[in-house]
Amino acid sequence: MLFQPDIETLPIEKLRALQSERLRNLVAYVYDRVPFYKKQLDAHGIKPSDIRHIGDIHKLPFTKKTDLRDHYPFDLFAVPMSQVIRIHASSGTTGKPTVVGYTRKDIDLFSEVVARSLAASGCRPGMKLQNAYGYGLFTGGLGLHYGAEKLGMAVIPVSGGMTDRQIMLLRDFQPEVMSCTPSYAQTLAEEFVKRNISLDSINLKIGILGAEPWTESIRKQVEAGLDIDAVNIYGLSEIIGPGVSNEDIDEKGTGSYIWEDHFFPEIVDKDTGEPLPEGEFGVLTFTTLTKEAMPLLRYWTNDITNIYYEHSHKRTHIKMGPIRGRSDDMLIIRGVNLFHTQVEEVIQDFPDLSPYYQLVVTREGNMDEVEVRVETSPDVDHSENLDGLRGGLRKKIKDNIGLSMKITLEEPGNIPRSEGGKLGRIVDKRKVYS
Ligand code: ADP
Repeated sequence: MLFQPDIETLPIEKLRALQSERLRNLVAYVYDRVPFYKKQLDAHGIKPSDIRHIGDIHKLPFTKKTDLRDHYPFDLFAVPMSQVIRIHASSGTTGKPTVVGYTRKDIDLFSEVVARSLAASGCRPGMKLQNAYGYGLFTGGLGLHYGAEKLGMAVIPVSGGMTDRQIMLLRDFQPEVMSCTPSYAQTLAEEFVKRNISLDSINLKIGILGAEPWTESIRKQVEAGLDIDAVNIYGLSEIIGPGVSNEDIDEKGTGSYIWEDHFFPEIVDKDTGEPLPEGEFGVLTFTTLTKEAMPLLRYWTNDITNIYYEHSHKRTHIKMGPIRGRSDDMLIIRGVNLFHTQVEEVIQDFPDLSPYYQLVVTREGNMDEVEVRVETSPDVDHSENLDGLRGGLRKKIKDNIGLSMKITLEEPGNIPRSEGGKLGRIVDKRKVYS
């Protein structure tokens, strides 16, 4: 379903005209109101009047996470605190939290893009949403909550974790939709089996999954394990929170629509910052075209993906592929760049393996070593010789990724599970050496 059909199918020339007008206003707005941006633009010799068209965006400097940290907590706000009605902070996966503020209009915008995202995911007014994203400073819980209300859903605000309670509510309240991280959806799917609870006792149809990278293997597992359609939602606090982009339930696996009337995306080279052609992989950046409290120009997300148009599809907006990882959690092993999602993709080709894995990185002398700890499927007998499976995985990783890794096959249950939030899949033991 299209929540705002006019804007979601706006012809591309009109979309560009809208983006151009919004960008012009934005640059003048931040130049006047945010000392950091005035300094940045002056330093680059750019006057707001130099920015006429959305194509001029490349002239603008990037904003990086360090700029947010340097202005901690509120110095990038473009409005006085009297106009701010909410403050969030990122969960701080990679360091000190970054702080973001919202005016009333920003909260309306946040609700609108989440409502659009939920509608694209197949949600309808009247459906019940069990929201298992964390409520609090993290944008996930309240973001989904307000968006679902805007769409007209009945929200069950459980927050993250508390698996016993989640399962009780899934059975008693019969929600059609659940939102949580993909790793927590894995945990839930597994709990149903462990507790011997039939999926007939619940009524879930759709999972709205995001906040961390996931691949088709996890999609397959949770779709089968919970009997749902699993749909991707993407976002980050700095830009607004979840709902920057979302998959359409009928176009699963083809990428997530970016709501580019509000968040203008670019893909740039991670070393040079040069814009890359459509379809190529690089760092995703966003310019918030309509935010009031803390608008950002060309924000460097660190997320690696690609963007492309799919002209045959329902909406005119550009799509992004799955996030391969963040450039700050990319491993460099013997000169080869490695994201854990690449290993996850190889694992999915082995029916005897489960998508529960962890990469352990160590340094032996000057050599970095990666150990893949991966669980076997429940029917694999560990008293048998598993050298064939081990060797097969090792070879396929070498062929596809170009790295030799040590393979450790674990019994089901040995790899840590998500207890509600984002799950780290890399244990980097090199840090203790340096
Ligand atoms: P933190 O930076 O503390 O993790 P955020 O909640 O703002 O706090 O996290 C946003 C980041 O989470 C994104 O930049 C991205 O790396 C990741 N993320 C969010 N949604 C997805 C998704 N659907 N797929 C992959 N990664 C995602």
